[in-house]
Amino acid sequence: MESQIFNSINHLKQLNDNPFTLQKIAYWLYEYNDLYKEVKNYSENLCEQCQQWKDDGLPYDCLQEANYCTKRYRYFTNFYEEVEYGIKVQELDAACKVALEEYKTNNNELQLKEWLIKYFDFGYNKLAIFYYDHLDYSVDNNEVVHPHFGNSPIGEFGVCIDRRYYKNLIEFDDVFKMLFYERKIYPEKLKEIEEEMQKIVTPMVPIPKID
Ligand SMILES: [Zn+2]
Repeated sequence: MESQIFNSINHLKQLNDNPFTLQKIAYWLYEYNDLYKEVKNYSENLCEQCQQWKDDGLPYDCLQEANYCTKRYRYFTNFYEEVEYGIKVQELDAACKVALEEYKTNNNELQLKEWLIKYFDFGYNKLAIFYYDHLDYSVDNNEVVHPHFGNSPIGEFGVCIDRRYYKNLIEFDDVFKMLFYERKIYPEKLKEIEEEMQKIVTPMVPIPKID
């Protein structure tokens, strides 16, 4: 299993055009989906040590991914899922295109507010992970940034997929944030969110990214 994992990741590395094309990522996921399922199943049966901790009512998770533990290949399934998310979220690009077309037909505040209400859950909840974790706006504007979907556990490379496939997702986010935070078109919701934010303060620790 270990060598299959190693080979699959090596294969992905060879496919890298930096950034990846969507097709190559989809192909890789398809090629190694059986391996993913196999590793996933394997890691679901607890090793003796984990089982014992579980029986004792303790948190069970072999630390350091010990070589007897069935969970030791989770780095692969976790990575696979991160990469797979890149494809799943891209499927929403078409919905964003529709939303943007609708947006462009709006010409007064009331219509804009209706638009924002209609797409609020979509923009604020459904796409939040994508914008926060995968799209990095913090680098300078002259540099083209591609959405990032995980760092390989082997071989020191990150998975960035060409941003052209996410064009509408990115544009949607710009419009959404501009209307919601800058123009404050939907003030009662903004107030509600600000109040919620004051209750929960969670530190945001950015994950280091490798290009
Ligand atoms: Zn274990």
